Amino acid sequence: MDRRSFLKKAGLAAGATASAATLAAPAVAQGKRELKMVTTWPKNFPGLGTGAQRVADRITQASDGKLTVKLFAAGELVPPFESFDAVSSGTADMYHAAEYYWQGKHKAFNFFTAVPMGLTANELDAWINIGEGQALWDELAAKFNIKPLMAGNTGLQMGGWFNKEINSLEDLKGLKMRMPGLGGEVLRRLGATAVALPGGEIFPALQSGAIDATEWVGPWNDLAFGFYKVAKFYYYPGFHEPGSGLAVGTNKDVWDSFSKEEQEVVKSACLAENNYMYSEFNYNNGAALETLLTKHKVQLRKFSDDVFDAIAGVSEEVVREVAGTDELSKRIYDSYIKARKDIGGWGKIAEGSYLENRERVIG
Ligand code: CA
Repeated sequence: MDRRSFLKKAGLAAGATASAATLAAPAVAQGKRELKMVTTWPKNFPGLGTGAQRVADRITQASDGKLTVKLFAAGELVPPFESFDAVSSGTADMYHAAEYYWQGKHKAFNFFTAVPMGLTANELDAWINIGEGQALWDELAAKFNIKPLMAGNTGLQMGGWFNKEINSLEDLKGLKMRMPGLGGEVLRRLGATAVALPGGEIFPALQSGAIDATEWVGPWNDLAFGFYKVAKFYYYPGFHEPGSGLAVGTNKDVWDSFSKEEQEVVKSACLAENNYMYSEFNYNNGAALETLLTKHKVQLRKFSDDVFDAIAGVSEEVVREVAGTDELSKRIYDSYIKARKDIGGWGKIAEGSYLENRERVIG
């Protein structure tokens, strides 16, 4: 051991003695504080599971092991949808998940993943990082003893997999579809039955006929789950998740016990993953879509304007109703809708018109 690493280790050990006395929950051994991160994702699932692993590894590496984060995939420590309660109560220290899975705890959590006809990935980041998003999210999550941070984004999601064509609103009636969050509520109002299955349970449900249709993420992730084997019609665009943010939630007592330096390490790891995952989805979705269409003969379909417009109308109504939950929900809704107008207004002038023109010229 060279002198430098010896001094570093000695320093860590001294620090641990002081902090071990004050910290009850996370295990502290030899200057390394071990933190348990649970997820809602299957083990090593591309993008989502591997992204959670990258966050855990970055925190561990950037803190030189002072915060050693051990990742538990869905079901390894707790069932996927119990991740929130596990972190809130301190059974686990952190989760990597989608906040809309917690809408049963509070409807306003939807705004921090995605809402129908809501913000895209870039817009969500702008609202969270620069607008009022983070402060409002902190206030909401603090009610459940959680400190939230954005740590991933899937980009715009696909409309989903159907075993029949959706030519009119009539075709949605009676349809049993997996769709979590407020998108599920929109479908219910249009006569469908919506369920919120965790990722690992979707394929068997679709295969057995327990559900007729599902959305998951986009071509890259959907190819990995093999939905093309049991449903041939792949619809776009997804009205329900225009840029789903994934979050790391940390037990607030644990967060407050971190030094400022440790908090910065966690924040930086989450911010890095937020950017990295979005790049990864963008890069991989195009090639995966090509594979689905050419190799697996998937039928790509665009929702008709009639169907999309009806869905969009109900979406606005469903999202607006969340504002009525309580005073905080109203503030979150107002801020979110203002962000959609302000950032979206600029996006239309800038990226929107550029993409339209690029498409017109080079196809
Ligand atoms: Ca989804």
